[in-house]
Amino acid sequence: MKTLGTLGEREAIRLIDRIVQSDAEVGIGDDCAAIDIGDRYLLVTTDMMAAKTHIPKGMKPYDIGWSLVAVNLSDIAAMGGSPIGLVTAIGITRGHPVDYLESIVDGMNECAQRFGTSIMGGDTKEHESLTLCGTAVGEVPKNQIILRKGAKPGDLVVVSGELGLAGAGYYSMKRNLGLTDCEAALRRPRPRLKEGAALAASGLVTSGMDISDGLSSSVFELSRNSGMTYEIDYSTLPKAEEVGLVFQDLERQKSLVLNFGDDFELLFTIERGAESDLEDITARTGTPFTVIGKVTSGEENILIDNARREKLENLGYEHFRTRQS
Ligand SMILES: [Mg+2]
Repeated sequence: MKTLGTLGEREAIRLIDRIVQSDAEVGIGDDCAAIDIGDRYLLVTTDMMAAKTHIPKGMKPYDIGWSLVAVNLSDIAAMGGSPIGLVTAIGITRGHPVDYLESIVDGMNECAQRFGTSIMGGDTKEHESLTLCGTAVGEVPKNQIILRKGAKPGDLVVVSGELGLAGAGYYSMKRNLGLTDCEAALRRPRPRLKEGAALAASGLVTSGMDISDGLSSSVFELSRNSGMTYEIDYSTLPKAEEVGLVFQDLERQKSLVLNFGDDFELLFTIERGAESDLEDITARTGTPFTVIGKVTSGEENILIDNARREKLENLGYEHFRTRQS
C-alpha cells in the first residue's frame, strides 16, 4: 500500500489538484488562489501549523500566533498582493492554560496589526494537540499579479534579504547559542509585503514565490511551473553570517542555506537588464535584493559551486517526509 510518507507533500498536492474542479483563475499550486473580481484579483491562501510537525520546541505561544499570521501573509506578498484580513482556527487541548491561548491570540493580533491588517474571525475547537490554521485574504491589481510561471530563458533569478537566517536560528535555539537575531527571524518571520507589492507595481517581475520550504525546493517549484531550468551560483547567495557560527563544516552550511526553510524571503525572476531598477525598491523598502542565477532551457537545475557545475538537488522541507539536514 502506498502511503503519504512515500508520496510526499508535493505529490499529494498534485493528487488533490487532479480531483478538485476549481473555478479560480489561478488555482492549486501557486501561493494563493486568485479569484477574478473585476479589475483586481481577490487572493486567498491558507496555511496550517501543528505542534507535532511544524512548531519547533521552545517556540512560545506568542511566537506561534505571530508565525501563523506571518506565513499566511507571506503567500499574499508572494503574489504581489496587499492584505485585506485573516480568519484563524485554533485546535487546542482542554489542559492548556488560559494564558497560553491568550498569548497565541496576542501574537496573531500583533503580527496582523504590524503588517497593516487584522484578524476578522475564526473558530476554536478542542483538539488532542495544538493545531492552528490561518486563512489570509488579499487583493492585487490584475496586471500586477506575480505567478510561479512566466520565467523565460535569460531571465535573472533574484532573492530578497538573507538566506539561512531562520535555519541558523533553529540550531541556535536547539543548542542554546544565544544568536538572538536569527532566533527572532525563526520565531517571528516578517512577511515581505511591502517588497512584494513594490515588485508587483514595478512590472519587473516575470515569476515569483516565497521561500517557505527552502531555496532548493522553491527553485524546483518555479522551474516546474515555467517549464524552464535554473542555474544558481552558490557563491552569490546572500548567506546569513550566523550560518558560519552554527556550522563550521562548509557542506553543512551549504545544506542549511539551500534546503532549510522558514526564511520567507521572496524568490523571483526579472528580465536581464532590469537589475538596476531593483535598487529603487531597495531604497524604498530597505530590503536588499541579490541576483543568484539565471533561467535556462537546459536539462536540469544546476548549482555552480567553485566553478564546478553540479545537479541542484531538491532537498527542501517536505511534509510527510523528514527533514534532511
Ligand atoms: Mg508560499
